[in-house]
Amino acid sequence: MSFEVHAQGAVHVFDCFSCAIHRMAPICEHCRVQIIGQGVEVEGQWFCGGHCARAEGKAGIIDHV
Ligand SMILES: [Zn+2]
Repeated sequence: MSFEVHAQGAVHVFDCFSCAIHRMAPICEHCRVQIIGQGVEVEGQWFCGGHCARAEGKAGIIDHV
């Protein structure tokens, strides 16, 4: 039951969703948590939410709801 994830021109093959999540999920630049689901991208950096973005000095970030 393997499946492919196409991202940024590359094809990644996984045999379970949790493997894919751990390989593909971006890491919050502030608290280092894996961002699964809604995150925010600011100037090429990923954060788990507006709180962490602001903690790193990124102004004007509003959480997606
Ligand atoms: Zn965070």
